[in-house]
Amino acid sequence: QTILAIESSCDETSAAVVQGGKVISNIVATQSVHEQYGGVVPELASRAHQKHIVPVIDQALKQAGIKKQDLDAIAFTKGPGLLGALLVGSSFAKSMAQSLGIPLIGINHMQAHILAHFIDEPHPKFPFLCLTVSGGHTQLVVVHDHLTMEVVGETQDDAVGEAFDKTAKIIGLPYPGGPLIDKYAQEGNPLAYEFPDVSTTGLNFSFSGIKTAFLNFLRKEVQKDPDFIKNNLPDICASIQHTLIRILLKKLKKATKQYKISEIAIAGGVSANSGLRKTLQEMGKEKGWNVYIPKFEYCTDNAAMIAITAHYKYLKGEFEDLTVTSNPRLKFEGINQ
Ligand code: ATP
Ligand code: MG
Ligand code: FE
Repeated sequence: QTILAIESSCDETSAAVVQGGKVISNIVATQSVHEQYGGVVPELASRAHQKHIVPVIDQALKQAGIKKQDLDAIAFTKGPGLLGALLVGSSFAKSMAQSLGIPLIGINHMQAHILAHFIDEPHPKFPFLCLTVSGGHTQLVVVHDHLTMEVVGETQDDAVGEAFDKTAKIIGLPYPGGPLIDKYAQEGNPLAYEFPDVSTTGLNFSFSGIKTAFLNFLRKEVQKDPDFIKNNLPDICASIQHTLIRILLKKLKKATKQYKISEIAIAGGVSANSGLRKTLQEMGKEKGWNVYIPKFEYCTDNAAMIAITAHYKYLKGEFEDLTVTSNPRLKFEGINQ
Protein backbone atom coordinates (compact mmCIF):
# COMPACT_ATOMS: atom_id res chain seq x y z
CA GLN A 1 0.00 0.00 0.00
CA THR A 2 1.04 3.58 -0.67
CA ILE A 3 0.48 6.31 1.91
CA LEU A 4 1.05 10.06 1.78
CA ALA A 5 2.00 11.55 5.17
CA ILE A 6 1.82 15.21 6.20
CA GLU A 7 3.64 16.77 9.17
CA SER A 8 2.76 20.30 10.34
CA SER A 9 2.99 20.30 14.14
CA CYS A 10 5.48 23.10 14.63
CA ASP A 11 7.72 24.98 12.22
CA GLU A 12 8.48 22.36 9.58
CA THR A 13 6.07 21.68 6.72
CA SER A 14 6.82 18.19 5.48
CA ALA A 15 5.36 15.47 3.28
CA ALA A 16 6.53 11.92 2.62
CA VAL A 17 5.39 8.82 0.75
CA VAL A 18 5.73 5.31 2.16
CA GLN A 19 5.15 2.25 0.02
CA GLY A 20 5.04 -1.23 1.56
CA GLY A 21 6.91 0.04 4.61
CA LYS A 22 9.66 1.77 2.60
CA VAL A 23 9.87 5.56 2.65
CA ILE A 24 10.31 6.60 -0.98
CA SER A 25 10.22 10.38 -0.59
CA ASN A 26 10.55 12.92 2.19
CA ILE A 27 10.40 16.69 1.63
CA VAL A 28 10.94 19.15 4.49
CA ALA A 29 10.42 22.92 4.30
CA THR A 30 11.82 24.64 7.38
CA GLN A 31 10.34 28.02 8.28
CA SER A 32 13.05 30.65 8.67
CA VAL A 33 10.58 33.42 9.54
CA HIS A 34 10.89 32.62 13.28
CA GLU A 35 14.66 33.26 13.56
CA GLN A 36 14.28 36.99 14.10
CA TYR A 37 11.79 36.44 16.96
CA GLY A 38 13.94 34.06 18.99
CA GLY A 39 11.27 31.35 18.97
CA VAL A 40 8.36 29.95 16.99
CA VAL A 41 5.51 32.44 16.54
CA PRO A 42 2.35 30.29 16.25
CA GLU A 43 0.42 32.62 13.95
CA LEU A 44 3.34 32.91 11.54
CA ALA A 45 3.82 29.14 11.63
CA SER A 46 0.22 28.53 10.51
CA ARG A 47 0.57 30.99 7.67
CA ALA A 48 3.86 29.48 6.51
CA HIS A 49 2.31 25.98 6.58
CA GLN A 50 -0.53 27.25 4.38
CA LYS A 51 1.98 28.64 1.93
CA HIS A 52 4.20 25.54 1.83
CA ILE A 53 1.79 22.64 2.08
CA VAL A 54 0.77 22.37 -1.58
CA PRO A 55 4.27 22.63 -3.10
CA VAL A 56 5.72 20.31 -0.44
CA ILE A 57 3.09 17.62 -1.13
CA ASP A 58 3.48 18.01 -4.89
CA GLN A 59 7.22 17.58 -4.57
CA ALA A 60 6.88 14.52 -2.31
CA LEU A 61 4.55 12.83 -4.81
CA LYS A 62 6.78 13.78 -7.71
CA GLN A 63 9.94 12.50 -6.03
CA ALA A 64 8.15 9.23 -5.27
CA GLY A 65 6.87 8.97 -8.84
CA ILE A 66 3.33 8.63 -7.50
CA LYS A 67 0.04 10.14 -8.65
CA LYS A 68 -2.68 11.09 -6.17
CA GLN A 69 -4.84 8.34 -7.63
CA ASP A 70 -2.24 5.72 -6.62
CA LEU A 71 -2.58 6.54 -2.91
CA ASP A 72 -4.26 4.12 -0.48
CA ALA A 73 -4.40 6.43 2.55
CA ILE A 74 -3.53 9.92 3.81
CA ALA A 75 -1.78 10.33 7.16
CA PHE A 76 -1.36 13.52 9.17
CA THR A 77 -0.03 14.64 12.55
CA LYS A 78 -2.93 14.78 14.98
CA GLY A 79 -0.85 16.17 17.88
CA PRO A 80 0.90 17.20 20.04
CA GLY A 81 1.92 20.56 18.61
CA LEU A 82 0.64 24.06 17.90
CA LEU A 83 -3.11 24.00 17.28
CA GLY A 84 -3.12 26.37 14.31
CA ALA A 85 -0.21 24.56 12.70
CA LEU A 86 -1.80 21.13 13.24
CA LEU A 87 -5.08 22.34 11.74
CA VAL A 88 -3.43 23.23 8.44
CA GLY A 89 -2.19 19.65 8.02
CA SER A 90 -5.33 17.96 9.27
CA SER A 91 -7.71 20.04 7.14
CA PHE A 92 -5.64 19.36 4.07
CA ALA A 93 -5.39 15.65 4.82
CA LYS A 94 -9.14 15.38 5.45
CA SER A 95 -10.15 17.05 2.23
CA MET A 96 -7.65 15.03 0.23
CA ALA A 97 -8.78 11.73 1.76
CA GLN A 98 -12.40 12.65 1.18
CA SER A 99 -11.93 13.68 -2.42
CA LEU A 100 -9.93 10.52 -3.20
CA GLY A 101 -12.27 8.30 -1.19
CA ILE A 102 -9.43 6.73 0.82
CA PRO A 103 -8.86 6.27 4.58
CA LEU A 104 -7.41 8.88 6.92
CA ILE A 105 -4.75 8.01 9.50
CA GLY A 106 -4.06 10.30 12.51
CA ILE A 107 -0.56 10.14 13.95
CA ASN A 108 0.92 11.00 17.34
CA HIS A 109 4.01 13.12 16.65
CA MET A 110 6.00 11.77 19.63
CA GLN A 111 5.30 8.16 18.70
CA ALA A 112 6.47 9.02 15.19
CA HIS A 113 9.75 10.49 16.49
CA ILE A 114 10.41 7.07 18.07
CA LEU A 115 9.30 5.02 15.07
CA ALA A 116 11.76 6.98 12.91
CA HIS A 117 14.02 4.08 13.94
CA PHE A 118 11.98 1.81 11.66
CA ILE A 119 12.62 3.81 8.49
CA ASP A 120 15.97 2.08 7.96
CA GLU A 121 17.79 -0.99 9.34
CA PRO A 122 18.80 -1.92 11.97
CA HIS A 123 15.69 -1.61 14.14
CA PRO A 124 15.76 -1.77 17.92
CA LYS A 125 14.19 -4.97 19.26
CA PHE A 126 11.10 -4.85 21.49
CA PRO A 127 10.88 -3.97 24.26
CA PHE A 128 13.30 -1.08 23.97
CA LEU A 129 13.84 2.07 25.96
CA CYS A 130 13.74 5.38 24.09
CA LEU A 131 14.98 8.71 25.35
CA THR A 132 12.93 11.22 23.35
CA VAL A 133 14.51 14.65 23.42
CA SER A 134 12.94 17.43 21.38
CA GLY A 135 11.86 21.04 21.37
CA GLY A 136 8.71 20.38 23.38
CA HIS A 137 9.33 17.05 25.12
CA THR A 138 11.79 15.09 27.21
CA GLN A 139 10.53 11.57 27.79
CA LEU A 140 11.72 8.13 28.76
CA VAL A 141 9.50 5.68 26.92
CA VAL A 142 9.27 1.90 27.16
CA VAL A 143 8.36 0.79 23.64
CA HIS A 144 6.50 -2.52 23.80
CA ASP A 145 5.68 -2.62 20.10
CA HIS A 146 5.10 -0.19 17.24
CA LEU A 147 1.77 0.98 18.58
CA THR A 148 2.15 0.43 22.33
CA MET A 149 4.33 2.93 24.14
CA GLU A 150 4.54 3.75 27.81
CA VAL A 151 5.94 7.03 29.16
CA VAL A 152 7.89 6.15 32.32
CA GLY A 153 9.55 9.51 32.91
CA GLU A 154 9.23 13.04 31.58
CA THR A 155 10.12 16.64 32.22
CA GLN A 156 8.20 18.53 34.83
CA ASP A 157 8.95 21.91 33.29
CA ASP A 158 11.07 22.80 30.24
CA ALA A 159 12.03 20.32 27.54
CA VAL A 160 15.75 19.78 27.00
CA GLY A 161 15.51 21.29 23.50
CA GLU A 162 13.99 24.35 25.11
CA ALA A 163 16.88 24.44 27.58
CA PHE A 164 19.33 24.41 24.65
CA ASP A 165 17.39 27.12 22.82
CA LYS A 166 16.86 29.35 25.87
CA THR A 167 20.48 29.22 27.00
CA ALA A 168 21.50 29.94 23.41
CA LYS A 169 19.22 32.97 23.40
CA ILE A 170 20.78 34.22 26.65
CA ILE A 171 24.22 34.24 25.00
CA GLY A 172 22.83 35.99 21.92
CA LEU A 173 22.53 33.10 19.46
CA PRO A 174 19.57 33.03 17.02
CA TYR A 175 16.70 30.51 17.18
CA PRO A 176 16.95 27.55 17.17
CA GLY A 177 20.12 27.74 19.22
CA GLY A 178 20.56 24.00 19.92
CA PRO A 179 22.55 23.26 16.75
CA LEU A 180 24.75 26.35 17.37
CA ILE A 181 25.55 25.34 20.95
CA ASP A 182 26.51 21.95 19.50
CA LYS A 183 28.77 23.61 16.93
CA TYR A 184 30.64 25.92 19.34
CA ALA A 185 30.83 23.19 22.00
CA GLN A 186 33.02 21.12 19.70
CA GLU A 187 35.96 23.49 20.29
CA GLY A 188 35.30 24.06 23.98
CA ASN A 189 36.15 22.46 27.30
CA PRO A 190 33.05 20.75 28.76
CA LEU A 191 34.48 21.02 32.27
CA ALA A 192 35.35 24.73 32.10
CA TYR A 193 32.30 25.77 34.16
CA GLU A 194 30.09 23.79 36.42
CA PHE A 195 26.32 24.07 36.68
CA PRO A 196 24.26 22.33 39.32
CA ASP A 197 22.19 19.30 38.45
CA VAL A 198 18.74 20.05 39.86
CA SER A 199 17.70 16.70 41.19
CA THR A 200 14.23 15.36 40.52
CA THR A 201 12.61 12.25 41.81
CA GLY A 202 12.39 8.96 39.94
CA LEU A 203 12.71 9.10 36.20
CA ASN A 204 11.41 12.64 35.75
CA PHE A 205 13.45 15.59 34.53
CA SER A 206 13.64 19.28 35.31
CA PHE A 207 15.50 21.86 33.23
CA SER A 208 14.15 25.23 34.33
CA GLY A 209 16.62 25.41 37.24
CA ILE A 210 19.61 25.01 34.93
CA LYS A 211 18.45 27.93 32.85
CA THR A 212 18.22 30.16 35.93
CA ALA A 213 21.59 29.00 37.25
CA PHE A 214 23.11 29.70 33.85
CA LEU A 215 21.61 33.17 33.75
CA ASN A 216 22.91 34.02 37.24
CA PHE A 217 26.36 32.67 36.41
CA LEU A 218 26.58 34.79 33.26
CA ARG A 219 25.37 37.94 35.00
CA LYS A 220 28.16 37.59 37.54
CA GLU A 221 30.85 36.89 34.95
CA VAL A 222 29.74 39.67 32.61
CA GLN A 223 29.89 42.12 35.50
CA LYS A 224 33.56 41.22 35.95
CA ASP A 225 34.30 41.11 32.22
CA PRO A 226 31.85 42.63 29.71
CA ASP A 227 33.42 40.51 26.95
CA PHE A 228 33.09 37.27 28.90
CA ILE A 229 30.64 35.66 26.46
CA LYS A 230 32.53 36.71 23.36
CA ASN A 231 35.85 35.53 24.76
CA ASN A 232 34.66 32.18 26.10
CA LEU A 233 31.89 31.08 23.76
CA PRO A 234 33.18 27.55 23.05
CA ASP A 235 33.80 26.81 26.75
CA ILE A 236 30.39 28.20 27.74
CA CYS A 237 28.61 26.11 25.09
CA ALA A 238 30.59 22.97 25.88
CA SER A 239 29.89 23.30 29.60
CA ILE A 240 26.16 23.86 29.29
CA GLN A 241 25.85 21.05 26.75
CA HIS A 242 27.83 18.74 29.02
CA THR A 243 25.50 19.53 31.92
CA LEU A 244 22.34 18.84 29.88
CA ILE A 245 23.73 15.57 28.52
CA ARG A 246 24.80 14.45 31.99
CA ILE A 247 21.28 14.95 33.32
CA LEU A 248 19.72 13.05 30.40
CA LEU A 249 22.07 10.09 30.63
CA LYS A 250 21.83 9.82 34.40
CA LYS A 251 18.09 9.20 34.15
CA LEU A 252 18.49 6.94 31.15
CA LYS A 253 20.92 4.79 33.12
CA LYS A 254 18.48 4.66 35.99
CA ALA A 255 15.66 3.57 33.67
CA THR A 256 17.72 0.77 32.09
CA LYS A 257 18.30 -0.65 35.56
CA GLN A 258 14.71 -0.25 36.67
CA TYR A 259 13.25 -1.88 33.55
CA LYS A 260 16.18 -4.22 32.86
CA ILE A 261 16.28 -3.20 29.21
CA SER A 262 19.52 -2.90 27.26
CA GLU A 263 18.07 -2.03 23.83
CA ILE A 264 18.46 1.76 23.94
CA ALA A 265 17.33 4.38 21.41
CA ILE A 266 17.25 8.16 21.28
CA ALA A 267 14.84 10.23 19.20
CA GLY A 268 13.74 13.81 18.55
CA GLY A 269 15.58 16.96 17.51
CA VAL A 270 18.14 16.97 20.32
CA SER A 271 19.24 13.46 19.32
CA ALA A 272 21.05 15.27 16.49
CA ASN A 273 23.42 16.66 19.14
CA SER A 274 26.91 15.36 18.49
CA GLY A 275 27.89 15.38 22.16
CA LEU A 276 24.84 13.34 23.14
CA ARG A 277 25.39 10.87 20.30
CA LYS A 278 29.04 10.36 21.20
CA THR A 279 28.55 10.11 24.96
CA LEU A 280 25.65 7.68 24.58
CA GLN A 281 27.66 5.48 22.26
CA GLU A 282 30.53 5.38 24.75
CA MET A 283 28.19 4.65 27.62
CA GLY A 284 26.53 1.89 25.59
CA LYS A 285 29.85 0.20 24.98
CA GLU A 286 30.75 0.38 28.63
CA LYS A 287 27.36 -0.95 29.79
CA GLY A 288 26.84 -3.54 27.07
CA TRP A 289 23.76 -1.84 25.59
CA ASN A 290 22.68 -1.99 21.96
CA VAL A 291 22.44 1.69 21.11
CA TYR A 292 20.31 3.04 18.23
CA ILE A 293 20.82 6.59 17.00
CA PRO A 294 18.66 8.03 14.19
CA LYS A 295 20.09 9.47 10.98
CA PHE A 296 20.37 13.26 11.23
CA GLU A 297 17.53 13.88 8.77
CA TYR A 298 15.14 11.83 10.92
CA CYS A 299 15.96 13.54 14.25
CA THR A 300 14.17 16.86 13.77
CA ASP A 301 10.64 17.09 12.41
CA ASN A 302 9.99 15.27 9.15
CA ALA A 303 7.09 13.46 7.48
CA ALA A 304 9.07 10.25 6.89
CA MET A 305 8.53 9.36 10.54
CA ILE A 306 4.80 10.14 10.21
CA ALA A 307 4.70 7.91 7.11
CA ILE A 308 6.37 4.91 8.74
CA THR A 309 4.02 5.18 11.74
CA ALA A 310 1.07 5.37 9.33
CA HIS A 311 2.31 2.15 7.70
CA TYR A 312 1.93 0.26 11.01
CA LYS A 313 -1.47 1.82 11.72
CA TYR A 314 -2.64 0.94 8.23
CA LEU A 315 -1.68 -2.70 8.78
CA LYS A 316 -3.79 -2.69 11.95
CA GLY A 317 -6.69 -0.92 10.22
CA GLU A 318 -6.51 2.02 12.63
CA PHE A 319 -8.25 4.76 10.69
CA GLU A 320 -9.95 8.03 11.66
CA ASP A 321 -13.25 9.38 10.48
CA LEU A 322 -13.62 12.91 9.16
CA THR A 323 -14.74 14.25 12.54
CA VAL A 324 -11.26 13.66 14.02
CA THR A 325 -9.89 16.74 15.80
CA SER A 326 -6.34 18.03 16.20
CA ASN A 327 -5.10 17.80 19.77
CA PRO A 328 -2.25 20.09 20.90
CA ARG A 329 -1.70 17.92 23.99
CA LEU A 330 -2.27 14.49 22.50
CA LYS A 331 -1.05 11.61 24.72
CA PHE A 332 -0.02 8.11 23.72
CA GLU A 333 -2.76 5.60 23.28
CA GLY A 334 -2.13 2.41 25.17
CA ILE A 335 -1.14 1.56 28.67
CA ASN A 336 -0.54 3.40 31.88
CA GLN A 337 -0.92 6.98 30.67
P1 ATP B 1 8.22 18.23 19.77
O1 ATP B 1 8.75 17.14 18.90
O2 ATP B 1 8.44 18.02 21.22
O3 ATP B 1 6.81 18.59 19.43
P2 ATP B 1 9.69 19.98 18.04
O4 ATP B 1 9.01 19.17 16.99
O5 ATP B 1 9.69 21.46 17.93
O6 ATP B 1 9.09 19.56 19.44
P3 ATP B 1 12.07 18.78 17.10
O7 ATP B 1 11.94 19.30 15.72
O8 ATP B 1 11.97 17.34 17.30
O9 ATP B 1 11.16 19.53 18.15
O10 ATP B 1 13.45 19.29 17.66
C1 ATP B 1 13.79 20.65 17.65
C2 ATP B 1 14.71 20.91 18.83
O11 ATP B 1 15.93 20.17 18.63
C3 ATP B 1 15.09 22.36 19.00
O12 ATP B 1 15.00 22.68 20.38
C4 ATP B 1 16.55 22.40 18.55
O13 ATP B 1 17.34 23.38 19.18
C5 ATP B 1 17.02 21.01 18.95
N1 ATP B 1 18.20 20.58 18.22
C6 ATP B 1 18.32 20.30 16.90
N2 ATP B 1 19.60 19.97 16.59
C7 ATP B 1 20.31 20.04 17.75
C8 ATP B 1 21.66 19.81 18.11
N3 ATP B 1 22.57 19.44 17.23
N4 ATP B 1 22.01 19.98 19.41
C9 ATP B 1 21.10 20.34 20.34
N5 ATP B 1 19.82 20.57 20.07
C10 ATP B 1 19.42 20.43 18.79
MG1 MG C 1 11.25 22.62 14.35
FE1 FE D 1 9.15 17.07 16.89
